[in-house]
Amino acid sequence: MAEIDASARHIEEQLEGIPLELEERRQAVGELEALVGGQGEQMQAAEALLKEQEGDLKLRSDMLSRSRAKSAKARNMREAEAAERELESIRRSIKDGEVEMERLQGVINRTRDILAEPLAELEAQKKALEEAEQSTAPRLEELRAERDKITVGRDQYVTQIPKPIYRRYERIRPKIHPAVVEVSPECICTGCRLQVSLQTYNLIIRCEDFYACQQCNRYLYVKDEII
Ligand SMILES: [Zn+2]
Repeated sequence: MAEIDASARHIEEQLEGIPLELEERRQAVGELEALVGGQGEQMQAAEALLKEQEGDLKLRSDMLSRSRAKSAKARNMREAEAAERELESIRRSIKDGEVEMERLQGVINRTRDILAEPLAELEAQKKALEEAEQSTAPRLEELRAERDKITVGRDQYVTQIPKPIYRRYERIRPKIHPAVVEVSPECICTGCRLQVSLQTYNLIIRCEDFYACQQCNRYLYVKDEII
């Protein structure tokens, strides 16, 4: 059974790895999206402010026209001076508004420049991820079919192994590969090179129970004793 599992291992690695890889890519796309999104929100806020300023400026230029008309109707020096002061103040606030609009436009332009590349990158990654996701299901299906073909006959071994041993074997199998290794005639675990005691070696030869290496946890067997 361990031999069957060993030959199916490269397929199982892909079966485990492909969804993990996809998940990692999903996360990367999500992070980039959040980053771009944050900057995008700042840009939208600047755009909203710019629009507000535009509206304000329109109101102020209306005020300027009204103030001009009033100034033309001034009946004496005092009224003329007051109208002139009002005109001056409106002109100043228009000037301020224009400066602010220029600043906002600068912010928007800069953010747009900064975002251009990450946005293109995000689009490309999203597209690639989508394609990968679409091709994953059939690929996994294919791999499963391939694995099932290789592991034909495995079940008959499973029924011969005590359940706790089998469960443990299944648990360690994805982590340590191969999960079953030979003990050399010199009593060395070929998985991790640990020296196994002669007593354990003899117990393994007797095949009465299953033994695992104390260091690497792999199940041990002695070559000539495999039935
Ligand atoms: Zn070992």
